Amino acid sequence: MDQPRFVIEAAEAESMAQSLALPSVRHLLPALVRPAQALARPPISNYHVAAVGLGSDGRVFVGVNLEFPGLPLHHSVHAEQFLVTSLKAHGCPRLLALAVSAAPCGHCRQFFQELRNSSAIQILVTSQNKQISDVTFKPLSQFLPNQFGPYDLLDDQTPLLLEPHHNALSLTPIISDDNRENHQNLSNCNGFSENDHHNLCNGFSNNSALLKAAAMEAANESHAPYTNCPSGMALMDCEGKVYKGSYAESAAYNPTLGPFQAALIAFVAGGGGGYDQIVAAALVEKEEAKVKQEDTARLLLKAVSPKCELKVFHCSSSTANFCKKAPN
Ligand SMILES: [Zn+2]
Repeated sequence: MDQPRFVIEAAEAESMAQSLALPSVRHLLPALVRPAQALARPPISNYHVAAVGLGSDGRVFVGVNLEFPGLPLHHSVHAEQFLVTSLKAHGCPRLLALAVSAAPCGHCRQFFQELRNSSAIQILVTSQNKQISDVTFKPLSQFLPNQFGPYDLLDDQTPLLLEPHHNALSLTPIISDDNRENHQNLSNCNGFSENDHHNLCNGFSNNSALLKAAAMEAANESHAPYTNCPSGMALMDCEGKVYKGSYAESAAYNPTLGPFQAALIAFVAGGGGGYDQIVAAALVEKEEAKVKQEDTARLLLKAVSPKCELKVFHCSSSTANFCKKAPN
């Protein structure tokens, strides 16, 4: 089987299952795991992980692991986190089932707790299958009994990770000196001269507002119910394509996924090539946040695309509290 794409539309997933004489799309998930492993980017471990999930809207999503040489290991992205982030980015409200190449680590079992009804998510570990025809899924509750999760800390009206978020953020008008709105000279970015940049980046300066807006949108969609420190990141490649990523907190804090990782997931899933094709980056977060992303984002950017410049924009909540789930 050819490498699958990162998002497979429902109708196409149905026809793929039919063409392989499989009784349902759920049976297709384990069949896609091995070809999807080739999409992973683990240059440190060379251990390729793929998680292939079925969303409640019938779409199939592929997640893979990402590792970043030169950085501490906690910057790595696990395939299951990639999968969940991709569902969120595509507005899929629920993960029904997934097939994964190796048993989910404790970190990922915990990360799944951020999804509503997480105990019912059905999981199949392909490396533990004796036969390819064995399609026995087990609920997450069997992988992680005695859970600690959002319900220990939040009321049941607070949106969970895959539910719609709007954090009611607005950009603060005063921006630090090196981030002034009129500072749009991006000639340092990847060492391009302004003319080169214009040619290579389809007139980036015209697109910088787009990048900032995308980072702002990502911050508004981010999941930060435990700290009230939302953030979002947007990246632009040398063709002017924008990829955004939203911060996603875990009740247990450590499996939290940073906005840069989320944006890199969008970059990989959106067909991005080498990370050095990232030529511009923008981060939106609160200036006085207890949990700040700027320094870590600079570190990560330096490792993946050293000549790319990061612009940081600060925001504030226009309401004191998080907006609660909209009434149905
Ligand atoms: Zn994991």
